[in-house]
Amino acid sequence: MKNEESSLNPIRGRVIRTTGSWYTVAVGPMIVECRARGNLRLRGVRTTNPIAVGDWVDVEMAENGGGTGVITNIRERTNYIIRKATNLSKESHILAANVDRALLMVTLKQPKTSLTFVDRFLASAEAYSIPVTIVINKTDLLNEEEREEMEYVAGIYREMGYEVFAGTAKTVESGNFQLPPKGVTVVCGNSGVGKSTLINALVGEERQKTAAISEAHNTGMHTTTYAEMVELPGGGYIIDTPGVKGFGSVDMEPEEIGSYFRDIFEIGKGCRFSNCSHTNEPGCEVVRALEEHRLAPSRYESYLSMRGDKEEGKYRKS
Ligand code: GDP
Ligand code: ZN
Repeated sequence: MKNEESSLNPIRGRVIRTTGSWYTVAVGPMIVECRARGNLRLRGVRTTNPIAVGDWVDVEMAENGGGTGVITNIRERTNYIIRKATNLSKESHILAANVDRALLMVTLKQPKTSLTFVDRFLASAEAYSIPVTIVINKTDLLNEEEREEMEYVAGIYREMGYEVFAGTAKTVESGNFQLPPKGVTVVCGNSGVGKSTLINALVGEERQKTAAISEAHNTGMHTTTYAEMVELPGGGYIIDTPGVKGFGSVDMEPEEIGSYFRDIFEIGKGCRFSNCSHTNEPGCEVVRALEEHRLAPSRYESYLSMRGDKEEGKYRKS
C-alpha cells in the first residue's frame, strides 16, 4: 500500500559535522540537522561512532521535526580515516570518510615528527589509494644544519613521487601553496605541527578550534574527538582531524606491507624470491639497496616496525 510513506523518499546528503547525537548534513545547497535512526551501523565495522564526517547518507525529513531530518542509511565508504579508541575498548573511531586526498603536515622541531609516523601514514594511505601531499611546516625555526636535514627528508619522499612542500603557515597564507579546488582534503599530522594555523590561513577566517571536545559527560565512557568539514573559498572541502593514525584498517597482514612502501615495492621487484620478506632471504635486493645507500635506513626501519619485526637490524649479518 502506497501511502504517505512514499512522500518520505530519502534524499542523499553528506555529513559535514557531527556533534554527539546530531549530524549536520549538506543536501545540495541545504543544511539539515539530523538525528540517526537507532541501530544504524555499517556492516563489518566496529566503531564508537556509526556515522562520520564525509559520509554520504540517506535522509528523511522528520515529520513535525521543524526542518530536521533522520539519517536512515549510510552509503558504502570508499575509504575512511580511523583512530583507535582510547584504552580499554577494542573499538575504533572513524574520523572522516570518503576523502580525495590527504595533506600530511610534519615538523622537524616543536614538535619533531617521527619518520616512522610518516611512513606508517603513507603506507596506510597507499593501501587506500589516497594521494598524499607532505607539508613540512615551521621551517622558520630551522638553522642551517637542520635545513639540510629537512632537504634530506624531503628528498626521500620526493624521490618516491610524493609532492613535498616546505614552508611556514605564513608562506601558505601568501598563497604559494594551494589545494586543488575540488574534492575533500583531509589535513593530518601530530598535535602542534600547525594544522589549525594552516586551515585558518586556507579558509581565510579565524575559526573556532574544534580539535578535541570531551564528550565524557555524555557517555561516561570515552573521549570523542570530532572532525569537521569546512568549505574552502576557492572550492572543495577541508577536513580537520585530530591525531590521525592512518586510514582504514590499521591492522595489515605482514606480507602486504611491502607493497605499500613505494620504494621498497619497486626495489623488491629485483629480489630472488617473489614473496621475499626483505629480512633474511638470500638474493634480497632491498637489503642490498640498503647497504648501497639506495634505500633510506629510516624507510627500512619503518618497514620492519610495521611488520612487527621489532628486533632492529635483524637483517644484519653480524
Ligand atoms: P595543530 O595542533 O596541528 O592544529 O597546531 P596549531 O595550528 O595549533 O599550531 C601549534 C603552534 O605552532 C601554534 O602556537 C602556532 O602558532 C605555531 N605555528 C604554526 N605554524 C607555524 C610556523 O610555520 N612557524 C612557527 N614558528 N610556528 C608555527
Ligand atoms: Zn627482498
